[in-house]
Amino acid sequence: MDSRLEGIRDTVLARNPGEKEFHQAVIEVFESLGPVHDRHPEFLEGAVLERLCEPERQIIFRVPWTDDAGRVHVNRGFRVEFNSALGPYKGGLRFHPSVYLGIVKFLGFEQIFKNALTGMPIGGGKGGSDFDPRGRSDAEIMRFCQSFMTELYRHIGEYTDVPAGDIGVGGREIGYLFGQYKRITNRYESGVLTGKGISWGGSLVRPEATGYGTVIFAQEMLKTRGQSFDGQRVVVSGSGNVAIHAIAKAQSLGATVVACSDSAGYVVDEAGIDVELLRHIKEVERGRLTEYAARRGGATHVTGGSVWDVNGTVALPCATQNELDGDAAAKLVSNGLIAAAEGANMPSTREAVSVFQEAGILFGPGKAANAGGVATSALEMQQNASRDSWTFEHTEQRLTEIMVGIHDRCAATADEYGAPGNYVVGANIGGFVKVADAMLAQGLI
Ligand code: NDP
Repeated sequence: MDSRLEGIRDTVLARNPGEKEFHQAVIEVFESLGPVHDRHPEFLEGAVLERLCEPERQIIFRVPWTDDAGRVHVNRGFRVEFNSALGPYKGGLRFHPSVYLGIVKFLGFEQIFKNALTGMPIGGGKGGSDFDPRGRSDAEIMRFCQSFMTELYRHIGEYTDVPAGDIGVGGREIGYLFGQYKRITNRYESGVLTGKGISWGGSLVRPEATGYGTVIFAQEMLKTRGQSFDGQRVVVSGSGNVAIHAIAKAQSLGATVVACSDSAGYVVDEAGIDVELLRHIKEVERGRLTEYAARRGGATHVTGGSVWDVNGTVALPCATQNELDGDAAAKLVSNGLIAAAEGANMPSTREAVSVFQEAGILFGPGKAANAGGVATSALEMQQNASRDSWTFEHTEQRLTEIMVGIHDRCAATADEYGAPGNYVVGANIGGFVKVADAMLAQGLI
């Protein structure tokens, strides 16, 4: 790391004790930014990094709710409004028992750069709760979402902060959250949340966008070496929203996706994952991957272990942070990997990224590769603002253009700063410079 940034890093780490995922995300970005400060001393003079690492606003609140037996539960809700230099705060809500401030802040921090890379007018934020939706009835989920929104509503708005989904928050939860927002405010403010249902203000392609976008980004990386998805053997982690649509898109481009996972284990299906069966089990039945293996001839389920033990030429981590460590990366490389693109946020540890880069693997970091979701959320906001709805084809075309644009911007920025082929450097610098310029232009805020 550039010595000028070390002191700033130390202060950020000391000011935010115990938030190890946030520390990891900050260090990863700082490691790319030395050369930027050679060209832009005004960023140091304006304390841009110090300001960028301090969220503009952090909201923590109590979420009381009752289960179906009438028992009272109390969860903790978060919304971190990190940076609004480029537009209203934008970023998802995560409902998962592991959620605490350090996770929300790492996600919000990454979101600032990701949103800048999309070229859309959106700032960065993130939120969620330590609520565990697994095993809860629809009625329990609804009561939780209503209680969560009963506090959150006062902090969000079309021009202020626009949440969306993330782990544990999909179309069902966005529906309950939107209903409660409308009820409290008496406003049909479509632009306050994205990921809505198609018949009430949602955008076609939003459910598919993150997974599709990750594959489009990976395809652009492969093209730089004269390759494509056609004929690739792909390993995916996760089996949620991002993973399902990444699998579908990769297979539509001629790849065979031979494995995917959930938190209990993984399935191997040499014939290629049956996406419709997977989608039905995961999205309709809300079941487990063991059921996929039970119903799909030829597929096997492995309990525990790591999906990264399965050999493939392309890896798409689409589950959660730090799910792919240095050992897993080394194993993938020795098994013939040529490319990895992150559908999830920060799924690869710093050691894993080093292993990939030292082995010359094409590596697409999440803040670039998974930006298709938030970009399509911004397209949903555009449609809401103009009271319009676009066709699937038109929206998918826009998504494709945006992802190709992000790829090209990352590649060009990496070249410009003397690190050709390094998409981590390209994404971090490309996103940072845009936000830093806007922050300086807007004065000391
Ligand atoms: P979902 O809740 O739909 O799916 C998450 C998947 O990851 C599930 O298969 C889940 O398994 C698995 N998973 C979650 N936590 C863990 C864990 N601790 N260990 C192992 N597996 C785990 O979430 P999404 O698909 O929406 O999100 C996946 C990733 O993509 C996240 O990192 C998210 O931040 C990122 N992302 C999502 C976007 C979106 O548009 N949804 C946009 C950009 C990034 P199980 O069911 O067993 O818990």
